[in-house]
Formats: sequence, C-alpha cells, structure tokens
Amino acid sequence: MVNVTVFGAGKEVGRSGFEVKGANTKLLLDYGVLVKEERPSFPLSTSPKGLNGIIISHAHLDHSGIAPLFYTSESPPIYMANITKQLTDILIRDLLHLSSYYIPFEALELKTMIESSTDIREGTYKMGQAQVTFQSSGHIPGSVNSLVDLEGKNIWYSGDINTIDTALLKRADPKLPELDMAIIESTVEHTPREECEKKLVETANEVVEGRGVALIPAFSVGRSQEILCILQKNRFKYDITIDGMSRTATKMIAGRPEELRDPKLIRDAMARSNWIQGQRDRNRALSKPGVIISSSGMLSGGASTRYMEKIKNRSNDAVILVSYQVPGTPGRILMDEGKYGPPGELKKAKCRVEWVDFSSHCGKSGLMQIVKGLKGNPKVLCVHGEAASCTDFASRIKEETGLDAYAPSIGETFTV
Ligand SMILES: [Zn+2]
Repeated sequence: MVNVTVFGAGKEVGRSGFEVKGANTKLLLDYGVLVKEERPSFPLSTSPKGLNGIIISHAHLDHSGIAPLFYTSESPPIYMANITKQLTDILIRDLLHLSSYYIPFEALELKTMIESSTDIREGTYKMGQAQVTFQSSGHIPGSVNSLVDLEGKNIWYSGDINTIDTALLKRADPKLPELDMAIIESTVEHTPREECEKKLVETANEVVEGRGVALIPAFSVGRSQEILCILQKNRFKYDITIDGMSRTATKMIAGRPEELRDPKLIRDAMARSNWIQGQRDRNRALSKPGVIISSSGMLSGGASTRYMEKIKNRSNDAVILVSYQVPGTPGRILMDEGKYGPPGELKKAKCRVEWVDFSSHCGKSGLMQIVKGLKGNPKVLCVHGEAASCTDFASRIKEETGLDAYAPSIGETFTV
C-alpha cells in the first residue's frame, strides 16, 4: 500500500510538493515556494529523517525553492539534473538575497543541499525500495517527469510538462507503463505558439520603429532564453539588451547545448545582444530604441523593475508581459488595471502594456491527450492550476475517460 499526500499545489499554482510513502520508503516529489507580494507560502512540512529521496523536477522556485529547509539538521539524498542544480543554486540564492520576508534557511543549507545532490539523466535510479525513472519534460532545460515504482505500484508525476516543440526545447513524449496513479499539472489552454510569436515580434517592431523601448520582463530561467531565440529566429534587426538574473541563466543554459533543440540559435542571439554591466549601460539602453529582456517576469523585483520606473512614464515605450501573471503581483495589476507603483500608491502607467500568452506548459488539450494515452486504470490527481482549472480538468477527465480524477486540496492523502 502506497500513500500519496498533497503537500502543496492543491487547487493553486505554486509550492509543489507531494509525499510518496510506502512501508519502508519515503520520497518527496518537489518542494517549492509560492512567492506572492505579501509573503511566501510553503508546502506542508515533514521530517527529513527517513527521507529516501527528494526529487526536484526542475529549477523553477515553485518546485525547488524551499528544499534547502531539509538540510538544517540532516542531509537527505536529493536528485536533479545537473543544469537544474546550477540554476536552482542561483535562483534560491537570489530568493535569499532579495526577499524582504523570512525564509527559514540560509546560504549554508543551500550549499549542503547542492553538495548532497545526485545528478540525474533520463534513466532509472534506486531510492529506498523504489525505482524512479526520469524522462525529459520539454518545459525548461533540465526538466523531468518522474515515474515511481514502489511496492509494485506505479505513480507518475508530470511536473511541468510541454508536449509542443518550442524555439528552445524539444517536446516531451513520455513512455509509460500501466499506472496506478498520475499526478498531473492543470494549466489552462493557451494561445497557439505561432500567434504568440507573431504578436511578440510585431509589437516589438512597432514599438522600436516608433522610437520606443520595449521592456520584456521574463523569468530568468526558460522564458528569457525562449524570447531571445524567437527574436533571433524571426530576424529581429534592432537592439536587444539582456539584464538581471536572465544574464547568468542564459549563459548557464547556453553552456548545455545537449539540452537544447537548436543551440546555434541561442548562441547567435547572445552574440548580437548587449549585456548590461552596470547602471551606465542601463541608462544607455533606456536612451535608444530597442528591446530589453530582464527578470523578474512579473515585475516583482530584479532589474526589470528598475527599467519599469522610467518606462511607466513614457508613452512611446511599452512593456510586453510574456507569461502567466500570478494574481496580486505588480505584473498582474499592470495587466488588469494598467496601474503600476508601490502598494497603496498605484498610478496609471503611460506606456503601452501588452500581454502575450506564452507558455512552456502544453495546455488543457495537450494534457488531456496525455491522460487519454495513459495505460492501466490510474487515479488522476489534477494539481498546480488555479482552483477552477484543477476542478474543471478533473471533471473533464472523468467525463471523457471514466478515470477517477480529483482536484485535491492540500493535506489530502490518496492510497494506491
Ligand atoms: Zn516550471
């Protein structure tokens, strides 16, 4: 008998964490943080004692951010791809430096975690009594989905998954045996990629040809590199500037050509871009037409907010948001209300504001295709989506496949 408990990401996007527990084996699938404006939230807690493995599906903080917590007293084995290790290290370091709120560990615990980590590739690893098989997920470089075989039960965790090719990565195509349970993300349907690419390139061209600056706030890991590749692929001929954590992440990712669909694309884009070294470069980038790609993606900190301070008052300029914006973040407020500023002092922004629905997730129809292809008669847990998205997805699965599907709440346990 194996119990799976939802520690986080139940009817919400963020703080993923799932405990898989058999008679003698305990595993954790992801352990992330949900960063909102007011304060971060964490998954349910558990003792690091007796943990046979923590699996980090990919570097994004909502899957990895709080895992160092386990390294204050113990050092349980932790598994992630090598590029995930590098990226997680810089992202969590940044979380520790930039956050104004309390994070219950320090750089030392992060260091211990990184040193305890086992590098994974596609293949099978033994953790306690479990055999865990990883396959690439097509979401960001290093992302994997995990199949846990414990006490004869097969539990599959999608992590964040994309079954469509992007400019940066090849799509996921998981090969799975008969399953007893599938834990699957529940993102909403997205605008087709070609439309997104077209809108991004057209908007950027319009702004720059009108002598303006187009700020593209983007997640440092994944989205920044994808935007660079798209501009390069579409022969964008104007200035491109890269700033913030996006710089380090881009260099790290370009250093792993084996993870990428077309490594030359990103190399060429990097070679023709301006790399910000200091404030003087920033002023220069703001003084001439061009595109600026910078983290953070929801304007909740990082270099993108410094540019936004100037751009918000300039009607020639634009901000192009290129990802899902979590409710309550400055990016989401700007997108919904056209306002920007510190809490309580929001003012109408004068610049143009656009949102392009880029995603590195496959969307509802892609997810449904995965579910329809599942073998066996698995219970399906629909997680890591906004509440309505998880419940709708679970009821569609029930209707269309007859499988037992749930949109679990945090703290619920399921037995297989
Ligand atoms: Zn992700």
